[in-house]
Order: sequence, then C-alpha cells, then structure tokens
Amino acid sequence: MSQKKKFTKDFTLQEPICDQGIEKALEILKSGKLHRYNVNPGEKGEAALLEEEFAAYMGKKYCLSCASCGSAMYLALKSAGVKPGDKVLCNAYTLAPVPGAIENTGATIELVDIQDDYTIDLEDLEAKAAASDARWFMLSHMRGHIANMDRIMEICTIYDLVLIEDCAHTMGATWDGKKSGSFGTAACFSTQTYKHMNSGEGGLLVTDDPELIARAIIYSGSYMLYERHTARPDMEVFESLKTQVPNYSCRMDNLRAAILRPQLKALDVQCERWNKRYRILEAGLNKIDGITCPPRDPRENYAGSSIQFSLVGRDEKTIQAFLAACMDQGVELKWFGNKEPVGFTSAYSSWKYFGNLPELVNTRRILATMCDMRIPLTFTESDCGLILEIIEQAAKATII
Ligand SMILES: *Cc1c(COP(=O)(O)O)cnc(C)c1O
Repeated sequence: MSQKKKFTKDFTLQEPICDQGIEKALEILKSGKLHRYNVNPGEKGEAALLEEEFAAYMGKKYCLSCASCGSAMYLALKSAGVKPGDKVLCNAYTLAPVPGAIENTGATIELVDIQDDYTIDLEDLEAKAAASDARWFMLSHMRGHIANMDRIMEICTIYDLVLIEDCAHTMGATWDGKKSGSFGTAACFSTQTYKHMNSGEGGLLVTDDPELIARAIIYSGSYMLYERHTARPDMEVFESLKTQVPNYSCRMDNLRAAILRPQLKALDVQCERWNKRYRILEAGLNKIDGITCPPRDPRENYAGSSIQFSLVGRDEKTIQAFLAACMDQGVELKWFGNKEPVGFTSAYSSWKYFGNLPELVNTRRILATMCDMRIPLTFTESDCGLILEIIEQAAKATII
C-alpha cells in the first residue's frame, strides 16, 4: 500500500483583508463614524461610494448595499412587487437563504428541476412557467453554474416573468461576455466571508429600474435620508413612495463598505486566480475513474471559487466511505445527498416550512451523488495537485 498523503490546510480560510482595506477601516473606526448616514453635508460615505463603484462595475444604473445577500433578495422580491400568496419560480438546487427570502415575502415557491450539469432544467422551467400563474423567477446561479441565459431570457419574455438573479457565486462571472447579474430586472450579490469579496456579511442589489431601487432603498432603512445615496434615481421617484414603504432596517455600514471597495478593484484578478485552481482540479478530477465533472458551456466564464463533481451510480454507503477516506487525509468535501441538512448544505426536502413540496426526480437523483469542494485562494496551485492525489487514492480505495 502506498503511503497516505495528508493535506493540512483549512478549507474555510480566506485570504486576509488587503492593507488598503485595513487602513481605511482603521480610519473609520478612529472617526467613530460607522453608520452609513453619519457623514458631513455633501460628503459621500463609503457605502455610497461602494454602491457607485459596484453599479459601474456591473454596468447598471443603481445599486444598494445591504446587510446580506439574503436581505437583498428579500428586498428585491418585495420591491419588484411580490405579495403574500404569489408564486415565485426557483431552481431547486440552491442555498437556504434563497427559499428563505421567498418565504419572507409570504409568497409560495414553485421549484424547478435541475439537469446533470447542475443548472436549471429549461424544459421544466418552461413547462412550469406555462402551467402556473407565477410572475416572478428567482434564478440562483448556485455554486457559480450559469444556465443558458439566452434561453432563460426568451422564456422570461414569452411568459412575462420578472427575473431576479441570485449571484452569490457569480460575482465577476459572465455569460457570453455579459456579466452575470446584468440579465435580470434585479440581481443580488453576497459579500459574506465565503463568497468573492469578504466583509464578513453583506449584500449588494443592482437594477436599472428606478422605482424598484427607490423602494429597496427605503425598505433597507434609509429613513428620509435617501438623498445621501448616490447610485439612486431622481429624488422625485421617492416622493410617492416615502410613506408607503416600511423600514426593514438591513443597511450596510461604512466599515464593511470600506473594506469592500479595494476588493472590488481586485475582483477580476481574483476570479482568474480561482479559475487557475479550478481548471487544474477539473482536469485532474475528470481523469479519476468514477468521478465526473460535467462539462461547462464555453459561453460561461465562471468564477471557480468551488468545484462540484458527481459519483454517478454510486450508492450512499459508497459515497460515505469515499468522503470519509478524503476527510481522513485532510480533504474536506461536502455532499448534497445527505438526508439530514448538515453545515451550510441543505436540500429542498428540508425546506418544510413551505409545507409539502413536490418531488423533483432529477434534482433528487443528481444531489444524491454530488460532491462539493471549496477552493479558497489560500490554496496554491500545487495544493490542488496534492488534493487531487488524495481524492484519487480515496476513489481507488472506495468507489471503483
Ligand atoms: C451565500 C449564499 C446566499 C446568501 O448570502 P448571504 O449574504 O449569506 O445572505 C444566497 N445564495 C447562495 C447561492 C449563496 O451561496
């Protein structure tokens, strides 16, 4: 038997905040002016500047920074007009804050199946859009997998669906040269520690719709201070809304915005660094018997901050043995097939607060063999080589 290799790095360790961010953060801490509206007359705070810069990065007119992506999604749905009892279409492979945001509006969820490359099943989407009276569509680009956006936009046009994109894993990614998050009526991004920019917690909402953003700004807790936003429409848009929209108090503060601004400048470079690691892992995984990384559409320019693969045809016992063998050598994989929700992962069958959700045969089958690995930038390209060796050893010992 060959000697067992060991990987010792932490799969949840991100890079430190850059010096520029730390310096700015210290400056704000020393001033005591952390609240986004705590600015001098005419001064643009860090949160307002971040919004301007992110809107420009996305090629969108308006941006709102929020407490989290989950709150941005909730505000986007509410501001787009979702009312209690409405139906929102959503792909079934996503993270718990997505159904949570839908539930928070009082709407019901209409889950759409996924296909073997982990993207939404466009036939199921079209069938459900045709059959139901759903007017809203929350598309979660889960783990960065971008569906055929040309077809998505056609379906949205035909069935008059308002598209809201969950871009928690596609910040910096494009489809056919167009930024993920610039297709929908609104798009939401996360700046939580494990996403593509890190402020601990945080969210960004972008749109070109002046009424939608005005509502979202007031919902987010602007009080009557919305004039201090600079990535906003004319003040008159707020006039008829200011007493009609409640304050849900989920703002971002200047401290978090300050550490995000330099990260935004580095975002594209960081995405390339992720992709270098991703491509090494993808090529290596596809050489291992029993492991499949589904091919990705060449129009998708993803940001590979995590990688997914399937152990097609393997049963639960075999997969558990494989995961344990990897873990034993320090390679921490997640598995979407667990009956019980574990850690950050949960399957749609765990969202019992919606009542009985229909069975989605393909999603269930695909999740049953899908593994998931984070690729923090604290891992080097040679770390990826070692991880591959370990996964191969574990696969040989357990799944072949
Ligand atoms: C993390 C995540 C979210 C929510 O982000 P928060 O900022 O933590 O609320 C939404 N969707 C997906 C796919 C995510 O991974």
